[in-house]
Amino acid sequence: MSESTKRSTRLLRAGRNHTGWVNAPVSRASTYVFDTVQDWRDTRKRRETERLPSYGARGTDSTYALEDALVELEDGHRGFLFPTGQAAIAVTLLAFLKPGDHILLSDASYEPVRNFCKHQLADLGISHTFYPPDGNGIEALIQPNTKVLYVECPGTITYDMLDLPRISEIAKKSNLWVIADNTWGSGWLYQPLALGADVSITAITKYIGGHSDLMMGASVANERAWPALQKATYGFGQTVGADDAFMALRGVRSMPIRLHAHAASALLVAQWLESRSEIAHVFCPALPNDPGHALWKKHCHGTNGLISFELQKRYSQTQAEGVIDALALFGLGASWGGFESLVIPTDLAGTRVLTDWSQRGAVIRLHIGLEDIEDLIADLNQALNTLS
Ligand SMILES: *Cc1c(COP(=O)(O)O)cnc(C)c1O
Repeated sequence: MSESTKRSTRLLRAGRNHTGWVNAPVSRASTYVFDTVQDWRDTRKRRETERLPSYGARGTDSTYALEDALVELEDGHRGFLFPTGQAAIAVTLLAFLKPGDHILLSDASYEPVRNFCKHQLADLGISHTFYPPDGNGIEALIQPNTKVLYVECPGTITYDMLDLPRISEIAKKSNLWVIADNTWGSGWLYQPLALGADVSITAITKYIGGHSDLMMGASVANERAWPALQKATYGFGQTVGADDAFMALRGVRSMPIRLHAHAASALLVAQWLESRSEIAHVFCPALPNDPGHALWKKHCHGTNGLISFELQKRYSQTQAEGVIDALALFGLGASWGGFESLVIPTDLAGTRVLTDWSQRGAVIRLHIGLEDIEDLIADLNQALNTLS
């Protein structure tokens, strides 16, 4: 493909063997057999640096095909697959941290990652400090034993933007690894590796899977980071089955167009919510008055179906929960990125440590699915009307 070939075209061609069938076959496999002892020895010698078939856990044609598509998406060097997004995060952090080390993470990080730092990493003698979601003042928080700067941009629930090129530069001066959770952007809307990160992690469970029928995670690394990541991935015995890899690859093909449709509806819903007197604030970096809007415009290639909104303080948590229960088309459930609309209550006051959320209104998170926009707004309208 020529240098000028567009991203969407590249993505549609990535991971295909071009032998006739459009899609790579499903290679369910554990054992690979060799013709001679010499072949076997030769592969074992070369397999740390080359992608050669040797054993199922080290990759099959199915996982290689998906890896190729993800590396194309993220513009990375190599990628590794994990049974969940959380497993990708845990193994990636353990690839770069050892007892005595310290990690910096955003106060807007996905809650299970906060818990992993608080429990599993703390048990290993690895400490952590939260930095403000906009990344301000990060320099002062770097300690002599800090090894990883963990980024989630936009942040969870509040979708805070930070200037990744700027903070990556600060991190590189102190020899830190910059590891980004890129589930929001899923490689299409945001490309952390191009902005200075060493590893970009995605919960494939979300937009890449796209149909709420698959659990998977991936870590795509630049050339500097992949040897350590490969070692940890193999050491912790991480891989995925061929059927799941096939499903994820199927999702990749239509992701750009799905994201476009999610985003178009989410923006309309966000603007409609902003017009409602019951609502104090709408969180979405694509809104012109969002504090992260300028950075979003500079670094993101669009938005997705996620928005959160804060009710006026005069409404109680019980009333907020009443709004959620009154919604008919929004399923009450974890995760997002599937074709369907979802809603969950949030607890920012109980989670965040650097900002006091206790004096703010209840915050509700929506995932805007691919249902008709008029139906979704009618549903939100009747649910918000229960407040009066
Ligand atoms: C869902 C999610 C994960 C974890 O993915 P799972 O596949 O559910 O383990 C990680 N980070 C973010 C931002 C997520 O939304």
